[in-house]
Amino acid sequence: APSAARPHVVLLASPGAGHLIPLAELARRLVEHHGFAATIVTFSGLSDSEALPSGIPTSVSTVALPAVKIDDLPADALRGSVLVELIHRSLPSLSTFLRSIGSTTPLAALVPDFLCSAALPLAVELGVPCYVFIPSSLTMIYLMRRVVELHDDAAPGEYRDLPEPLEIPGGLSLRRADLPVPYRDCNGPAYAQLLRGGRRYRRADGFLTNTFYEMEPAMAEEFRQAAEQGAFPPAFPVGPFVRSNSDEETGASAILEWLDSQPTRSVVYVAFGSGGALSAEQTVELAAGLEASRQRFLWVVRMPSLDGRTCAFGARDDDDPLAWLPEGFLERTRGRGLAVPAWAPQVRVLSHPATAIFVSHCGWNSALESAASGVPMVAWPLYAEQRMNAALLEGTLGVALRPRAREDGGVVAREEVAAAVNELMEGESGRAVRRRAEDLQRAAARAWSPDGSSRRALEDVAAKWKAALGGGR
Ligand code: UDP
Repeated sequence: APSAARPHVVLLASPGAGHLIPLAELARRLVEHHGFAATIVTFSGLSDSEALPSGIPTSVSTVALPAVKIDDLPADALRGSVLVELIHRSLPSLSTFLRSIGSTTPLAALVPDFLCSAALPLAVELGVPCYVFIPSSLTMIYLMRRVVELHDDAAPGEYRDLPEPLEIPGGLSLRRADLPVPYRDCNGPAYAQLLRGGRRYRRADGFLTNTFYEMEPAMAEEFRQAAEQGAFPPAFPVGPFVRSNSDEETGASAILEWLDSQPTRSVVYVAFGSGGALSAEQTVELAAGLEASRQRFLWVVRMPSLDGRTCAFGARDDDDPLAWLPEGFLERTRGRGLAVPAWAPQVRVLSHPATAIFVSHCGWNSALESAASGVPMVAWPLYAEQRMNAALLEGTLGVALRPRAREDGGVVAREEVAAAVNELMEGESGRAVRRRAEDLQRAAARAWSPDGSSRRALEDVAAKWKAALGGGR
């Protein structure tokens, strides 16, 4: 059939590499395995407006909606809240776009990512199935669901706190401090928004989640039962979506060449995602700890945060983060360590035979990429849902070790950095962690093997969409 007539899936991506990369991977599979046409819609208007990362598959179209103004929002608003508002203000142009596509090709489904819940009513209006994409864990949906259930019988504006600790399926007990910031305090500025989003989600037709069964088996069962009982829309684990970086990325070849010259399983890879930032003091302690560990390392150094925030998107790229490393550090570690500014081709690094362990901020994509490569982690959560991810990785899955921060100010001291790195590289308890990381790697590979659980789940969903079109929905 000519591509114009192929049923079309429209995916909505909130800004951020961590949201867009897995969504693009989902889109690619819908096109290449299931015969849909797919368009990714992006939103514009952030001051640190981010370019599309390289490597969006050519089979997937992209459309950027016109920029909207959001400079009236408070400067200290949480990034998630800013994104939600950005998307809300873009709804009119989104509606125009969807109607124009829908007039030429059948719309099979709308797939907003988790921050785009504002688009759900549009899908209902257009009579199109709406499946929310969660670039994070099933645990994240579970949190949202608990918040909504907590308020089922509450009067409007009457907010309630989640219990502390929060016991979740799989046996994990989350302290308040482990929850993403908006969930910690029902009087906080983002709680109302959270509840509004959660209530919309409950009316979605389903969730596509970038996770796989063995990553969260108890949660997968929990959601299966909830869907059977009609208590919640089905949540399909369809990941892990791991994009292999392209060679053209800045500095990629120099980094990979350096890794090629290192012994097998000898390198500590250190990176804090696309937005993670350490304080200047913590940057120095981390450097000193890596040096003291005597291990080989590859460190993606980012500009330190000078205002105490752990999340710093859009730092100026003409600043040199390496200038913040301790005096003489680069010289003393030359040959054994490589510090690179800003960015590394992470998926290629993690799957490189020289890479042994990953000191990570536990962004969900990083966690999945690590799992897919069988690389154990030193968990160093910074923002968003990363503490919860770290708890899952360390506590339930046992594929991570967690260094302890000092009581005062939360800095992880150099001795603690060196001890955690060395334990995971060479220690006895480190050995068990390394072994479980290998087990998880096998499970991740099975999920997308020909009869794997994630592949089958996406097949089920695609079949539902096609059946709905055929039935003249
Ligand atoms: N990434 C990368 N190179 C870097 C840092 C990050 O390729 O130096 C990629 C990483 O592989 C992952 C994404 O950016 O796919 C970051 O997503 P994650 O969920 O881990 O964290 P976030 O950036 O959303 O906090």
